[in-house]
Amino acid sequence: MKVRYMEKQQFQAESKRLLDLMIHSIYTHKEIFLRELISNASDAIDRLYYLALTDENVHYNRNEFKIELEVDKPQRVLKLRDNGIGMTREELEHNLGTIAHSGSLLFKNEQDKEKSGDEIDVIGQFGVGFYSAFMVSKKVTVLTRSFKEETGYKWESDGADGYTIEEYPKETVGTELILSLKDNTDEENYDEFLQTYRLRELVKKYSDYIRYPIQMEVEKTRLKEGSDEKNPEYETYTEVETLNSMVPIWKRPKNDITAEDYNHFYQEKFMDFKEPLSVIHTNVEGALTYTALLFIPSETPYNFYTRDYEKGLQLYSSGVFIMDKCPDLLPEYFRFVRGLVDSQDLSLNISREMLQHDRQLKAIAKNLEKKIKSELVKMLKDDREKYETFFKHFGLQLKYGVYGNYGADKDKLQDLLLYYSSSEKKMVTLEEYVSRMKEDQKYIYYAAGESIVKLDQMPQNERVQEKGYEILYMTDDVDEFAIQMMHDFDGKEFKSVNSGSLELESEDEKKEIEEKTAENKDLLDALKEALKDQVKDVRVSARLKSHPVCLSSDGGISMEMERVLNAYPGAEKDMIKADKVLELNGEHPVFAALQKVYEKDPASVADYAGLLYDQALLIEGFSIDDPVAFSNRICDLMVQANAKAE
Ligand code: ADP
Repeated sequence: MKVRYMEKQQFQAESKRLLDLMIHSIYTHKEIFLRELISNASDAIDRLYYLALTDENVHYNRNEFKIELEVDKPQRVLKLRDNGIGMTREELEHNLGTIAHSGSLLFKNEQDKEKSGDEIDVIGQFGVGFYSAFMVSKKVTVLTRSFKEETGYKWESDGADGYTIEEYPKETVGTELILSLKDNTDEENYDEFLQTYRLRELVKKYSDYIRYPIQMEVEKTRLKEGSDEKNPEYETYTEVETLNSMVPIWKRPKNDITAEDYNHFYQEKFMDFKEPLSVIHTNVEGALTYTALLFIPSETPYNFYTRDYEKGLQLYSSGVFIMDKCPDLLPEYFRFVRGLVDSQDLSLNISREMLQHDRQLKAIAKNLEKKIKSELVKMLKDDREKYETFFKHFGLQLKYGVYGNYGADKDKLQDLLLYYSSSEKKMVTLEEYVSRMKEDQKYIYYAAGESIVKLDQMPQNERVQEKGYEILYMTDDVDEFAIQMMHDFDGKEFKSVNSGSLELESEDEKKEIEEKTAENKDLLDALKEALKDQVKDVRVSARLKSHPVCLSSDGGISMEMERVLNAYPGAEKDMIKADKVLELNGEHPVFAALQKVYEKDPASVADYAGLLYDQALLIEGFSIDDPVAFSNRICDLMVQANAKAE
């Protein structure tokens, strides 16, 4: 044998850390290593089988594919063999020397957490794949031969000390893992992974649906031939037993599948440490035949709102795996759904580009969208608490859906939205809001801002609430944009409590305000002049009751939208401006004070104008341009007041 590549290579730094975690892990579910390795073996077979079906130069027979377990008790060795695609030297180096890409990112993000002692979570949460072998092994040997090559390679490592790769004359294509189990300690007994019953149990528990037989030679006893019943004699013999049932869960009759089965399957397949919030399993037959098994996660995946998150469903054609994340099966606003679709109507040879135009696939996607929607509607109706959990995690995505695509999808999504209600003090649907609207109420009122607590204190609300009208509080950046896109719900237009005119005042009130405005024209003009860079207008307010001032806006852009748009990365400073209006409460003592100041010394009104404007901003939850000037003005007032008192 020609020996090459024998020098010891070091693991990539991140791999090393994960390995250390594996080796020293106090993680209690060490048993999952078996499921991880079997899953790798099954993937490797999938890939070769797929080639055999699509590449005329590759010939393999479906029936020959298998995964084998073998136990060597005296040596304390567990072997795991597959006749899948195998690895070339480069693949071996790349795949087992560096941590898998998906894993590496997760791992980086989790590192801080892990330092604080939460390391167990890293393992529980994310599939750790091949390296999990080191949870139970002191040495791991990999013998592998790629279907492309005539010879094989041997990779070996004790984890801590790097790994070696050398040529190895492997006769068959595929991969064999040889796990030299760790020594038993007082706390841990690794011998369990040499026991037939235990291995059988683990395969059943975690890998039952694997589509290729997982086989093991097991020892059995039987009555010796010719031995008589009165004086029975037994003999032991070995037999190859298939440990898994091989029927993928989505192919099993629904009645036979327990919630636990679904949960297990989901958690393992989609590497989620939480159980799914909801499961949708649907079989469709007819012009279009397919099975879909879909899951709604119970929490937002850590990268969900980033570009790293890839949406899509796994795609199978009559049980043969085609693609991991087929994006065309899900609309953007349901991108949180995970799962798979298996259809006999799809061609295996289909490429990603062709899929986009595939009629069958489009039809399936359309059906699935309806199905997901109806599942959500049902959840909203039957299990409100669960729906609210769902909405907490993915509601934002639905709102983006309303806003995106130029509003084309708003009709499908608007009845799935929830907002916090000022009067109900809980999340409500738009339909519920409309059903509670007062007879004389024309609009659906909403207030947009930073938090529910702050919105609840907004002076602008008073007038609307006094009328007995409910207000929807909106705290997501996208909210007002989505609202603008919707324009109305059930024929009722949305109206911000901040908008220029609320149209709530009676004829008498209108007259009063007109009179007050006329009487104080000079004062209002002086204030307007003083604030000409900040506001478009200064008015006597129709909406304030107990507060002295507030800000509102005319036109399509609200102050909240101004904030959101200007905060957008890359936005030019103050590129977008709301048409702000400073409203003054004509009945408030402050207004009377203003009148007096103006009479005595018209020039000093500018200081007051600045103060009132800053106050209004603060109440609204915005920051003020010049806090020092604000503070100085207040101090001056205090000193003046004190001087008067003396
Ligand atoms: P993951 O399976 O999440 O990619 P792993 O660490 O389990 O991460 O495996 C890394 C890579 O090693 C796999 O993506 C695959 O390419 C390769 N690999 C692992 N096991 C096998 C195997 N039995 N046969 C062929 N390739 C394998």
